[in-house]
Amino acid sequence: MSRIYERVALIGLGLIAGSMARAMKRHDLAGEITGFARSAETRDTVRELGFCDRVTQTAGEAVAGADLVVLAVPMGAMEAVARDIAPHLAEGATLTDVGSVKAPVLRGVGPLLPAGVHFIPGHPIAGTEHSGPRAGFAELFENRYTLLTPPEGTDTEALARLRALWEAMGAHVEEMDAEHHDLVLGVTSHAPHLIAYTMVGVADDLSRVTDSEVIKYSAAGFRDFTRIAASDPTMWRDVFLTNKDATLEILGRFTEELFALQRAIRTGDGDFLFDYFTRTRAIRRGIIEAGQDTAAPDFGRVPVAGDKEG
Ligand code: NAP
Repeated sequence: MSRIYERVALIGLGLIAGSMARAMKRHDLAGEITGFARSAETRDTVRELGFCDRVTQTAGEAVAGADLVVLAVPMGAMEAVARDIAPHLAEGATLTDVGSVKAPVLRGVGPLLPAGVHFIPGHPIAGTEHSGPRAGFAELFENRYTLLTPPEGTDTEALARLRALWEAMGAHVEEMDAEHHDLVLGVTSHAPHLIAYTMVGVADDLSRVTDSEVIKYSAAGFRDFTRIAASDPTMWRDVFLTNKDATLEILGRFTEELFALQRAIRTGDGDFLFDYFTRTRAIRRGIIEAGQDTAAPDFGRVPVAGDKEG
């Protein structure tokens, strides 16, 4: 694979940046990879792991001379980091991010950037419940979608180059409007995470169900909830605070559906339940047919890295 960028700077060196660096190295997509993380501990870990060619003491040093800069920090830190690096960005560089919510990045980061920098927000729909620099792996983006939300008037060459990078890391790339992205991900990722957090919280609150029973009898449903509910608290706090409107809209609809199911159970309306579950089963089939999960039986499965998204 030929090099797509001469120098890539990664700001934030956790699961996503660490996976990008490993994938770029494996496929020889970048001449040099520089990296910066706020804590000395993470910087030392990355030096030891060796997935960046250079780990710098400041974010400004990392981005100087880079033709691609990737912001890979929690949503709540995007603006502060962008403000910090803005004066150091090279003319003609592309700045992207991997945040799970797109409209706030577009609104908050865009205006901070100097003219001559191509700003193309993005979101790889790939992740695990693990975080930090040790959690990354080169295959994370393979056969997963990466959504790019280029603002109007984005330079077509810069966009094609960023798309080529994601494709070379194994991703399917699609473009969409940032607001639409946030609504779609609200349905497919953000609301389900909130429901999983709630379900695990409910089990925890039920004093009749002891910890050992929850663990011992955790069937597929609850076990999957616990995996999702183990996701990084900082990241998910920020996702809900920044994708507030879409999440609240979907939770409103969710509550209405829940009440409808509750009523069907109370009144013994088996037809309603049966038809409802038949409809949802078809959605599962669609996901398998689209190659986004496997039809292998869930019980006793070996957890597969990268089978979750942010
Ligand atoms: P992560 O593994 O927790 O790494 C986050 C990195 O950001 C760390 O290097 C951390 O620095 C740095 N950071 C944290 N708070 C910061 C702050 N206030 N200021 C500056 N730097 C800060 O996170 P991740 O999973 O890679 O997620 C990164 C981004 O990708 C997030 O915006 C998330 O929404 C998005 N995303 C995540 C997933 C997923 O499933 N995990 C999937 C797609 C997109 P230290 O190590 O020094 O603390």
